[in-house]
This record gives sequence, C-alpha cells and structure tokens, in this order.
Amino acid sequence: MSDIRQTIIDSLSSGLSKNSEFLETVQGLVETEGEETYPILLNVLTHLEFNTKDAKSNWDQIIKHQSLLETKLERPVKLITAMCDYFSEVSKNLQSPTMIELKVLEETRKVSRSDGLTGLFNRRFFDETLDGEISKAIRYDGSFSLIFFDLDNFKNLNDTWGHQAGDLTLKRVAEILILEKRTEDIACRYGGEELVLILPETQKINALVIAERIRQKVEELKLDFDGKSFGVTLSGGVASYPTDAKDIKSLIHAADVALYQAKESGRNRIFLHALDKRHYIRIDFAGEVHVSKVALGHEQIKVQGKNFSSSGLLFESPISIEIGAQVQVQITDQGIDKPIIVKALVARVEKFDTYYDIGIAFLEIDDTEGSEIAQTLAKNLGIPTNQISQKYNTDA
Ligand code: GH3
Ligand code: MG
Ligand code: MG
Repeated sequence: MSDIRQTIIDSLSSGLSKNSEFLETVQGLVETEGEETYPILLNVLTHLEFNTKDAKSNWDQIIKHQSLLETKLERPVKLITAMCDYFSEVSKNLQSPTMIELKVLEETRKVSRSDGLTGLFNRRFFDETLDGEISKAIRYDGSFSLIFFDLDNFKNLNDTWGHQAGDLTLKRVAEILILEKRTEDIACRYGGEELVLILPETQKINALVIAERIRQKVEELKLDFDGKSFGVTLSGGVASYPTDAKDIKSLIHAADVALYQAKESGRNRIFLHALDKRHYIRIDFAGEVHVSKVALGHEQIKVQGKNFSSSGLLFESPISIEIGAQVQVQITDQGIDKPIIVKALVARVEKFDTYYDIGIAFLEIDDTEGSEIAQTLAKNLGIPTNQISQKYNTDA
C-alpha cells in the first residue's frame, strides 16, 4: 500500500510536466496492484478520500478533461491544471477540495531525494541521475564524468574526535562540494563517507581540475568541535564515459579503481582511471623540463621534472601556476633526440618552502594518444615499448 503511494510520489517528483511518463506509471500500478491504486493516487494529488469506484471514475474524467482542455486551448495542459479545473468547474458536487500544494509536493520531492545529514542528493537519486545521464550521452554521442571521493582515515577521525565531530566534518566537506562544483554538476552522498559528483558533458581532464580544487579546499579546511581543532583530507577517483566505460556498472567500477589507487598511493590525492596500464607507469625523469605557460604567451619557466607518466607529469617550479591553466611542456633529456612537446592542463599545485610542486595532466589523455606518448618516450629513451611497463610498472 505504502509502496503505491511512494511510487506515485516518485513519479511526480521526476517532473510533473512529463505527463506521458506519469500516466504510464499509473497504468503500470493499476496492472500490478489493481484498482486500489486509484484512491491512493487521488489522495496524493488532492488530499481527498474516495472509494475505489469514485476514485477511478474521477481519474478517468480528469484525463478526459485534460485532453479536452488541450484541444480547446491548442497547447499542452499540465495534469495538475486539468485537475484543478475539473474539480472547480466540472465536478462541482465536491465541495472545495484541497489540492496538494506544489510547495508540499516540492518538500516531499526534496525529502525523497536528499541525504539528511549533508543535504546532498542521496544514493537513490544518484542512481536515477546516472541512468539519465548515460542515456543522454548515448543518444547525443556525448560524454560525462564521475568523481568518487572518500574521506581519508575517517574511522580514525571518529575514534579520536568523536562521532559528532565526524558528522560535522561530513557536513563541512559536503559544503565544499556544493561551493566548488559547477551549477550543472550533481553532488550526492553515495554511502557513509563516500561522496560523488556527476559532471554532465565533462571530459576527464576538466573533471580532474574540479576534483583537485575540491581536494585542495578540503585539505585547507579548519574544523572546530568542542574546543578541539582538526583537519581532514580526501582521496578521489575520476572516470569518464565513454573513455573508461560504456555502462553504469563499469563506470562506477572504473572510478572506484582509481579511488583505490589514490588511497594506495598515499591518500589526499586524485587519480584518473585509465584502461591502459601504461597510464600508470612512472618514469624517474632526470632531465630538464621546460614549461611554457600558454595562457601567459611565451613566458618560459625552467623546472625540474620529478615524475613522468603517460597521463601526466609532476615537477617543481619556482613560481605558482593556477589550477586549470593550459601549459605547453617541452621535455628534454640526454636520451631524447628531439624535445617532446605536449599540451597539458595544470591539475594540482602544492606550495613548499622554496618551490611549488605542480602536477599537470596531458590533454592527449585518451588511450591511443596516451600510448603514443609512451611510445615516443620508449623510442627516445631507447627502451622497447613492451618493456616499458615491465621496467617502470612500479606504480610508485
Ligand atoms: P580510508 O582512508 O582507507 O578511507 O580509511 P577510513 O577509515 O576512512 O575507511 P573505513 O571504510 O575503514 O571507515 C569509514 C568510516 O566512516 C567508518 C564509519 O564509522 C565512518 N562513517 C560512515 N558514515 C558516517 C557518518 O555518517 N558519520 C560519522 N561520524 N562517521 C561515519
Ligand atoms: Mg569508505
Ligand atoms: Mg574513508
């Protein structure tokens, strides 16, 4: 019984304007649950009590009235409008029915979608939205990304500062997500201390920039509870449709794998998922790395390269570069005949005493081109490609 009510509310919540979908839901309920559906349906919509027979008859009349109004007005008429008009103009034998207020419906809708503690969307909404997002991407040949965040050592935080301090931490981190995400991104609480962002029409590289910005803000967050001050960090995994996976289950798995790798590599970092194992190889790069910042014309910054992988590069720079800036990297080394030039995006900036640690992600990030970089490196460093992963696959 309460299932019928919930299904009706859910269907209404997914948009009152989607008339045909709502009618299909009602039809489906009648088929599976029987005519018992009608009084519940009308009760949800009008707060009125009807017996089954009257409820069915009123419902049929409302539907007919809706098409009649549409024909007369020559435009679509919302069900709720038709219902108001029906009860006030046609079925006058009902005295002042109280129609459900849209505000109440809006509240119901909010409650059924949101997580009580953080105010983020809940898991159920996440599942539904992801369904919609993948269908949209398939239909329009689009792309979108997913970021899985998980608070680092949260059990320890709870044990040290108490569960309430843990709750406060979750709330504050959720606020950061809301502030830092773009309007169109959807922030959800996936589980206990796992938060997730759905980024519509977003490629992996841009998702990385957002994830990294969030990671940094969380790291800077100062928490106070009960006179005690503490901090928290989080790790994140990024995966994108269609680069990393073509269905929901595999996409979630891909983001999860990346998150796991971020945790394994020391926490407080964001990892990208990549199918090609070589994306994770790290090469100790002793040569000079020149970075010229595209956004600032031809300014050249001489830096020391530290870690090189086929998806990105970590280097020390005397000056800071803002996250999201496009840079052009020129890589030279004794073993390399010709400098390698790669366009990249700044994804991470960390300040140290005398320098900045800067992480950039190559824009040529998709499998084929990523592999090309690996191949170029292999060629220039004189290592056969098939040995690169064996030689450097330490994932350090
Ligand atoms: P890791 O860095 O590997 O993620 O370590 P962790 O301690 O965060 O991971 P683990 O999965 O072992 O622990 C998660 C903890 O999160 C355990 C659970 O008590 C806590 N937690 C989950 N939901 C809530 C919540 O709503 N409030 C609070 N305060 N704690 C929560
Ligand atoms: Mg966890
Ligand atoms: Mg955790």
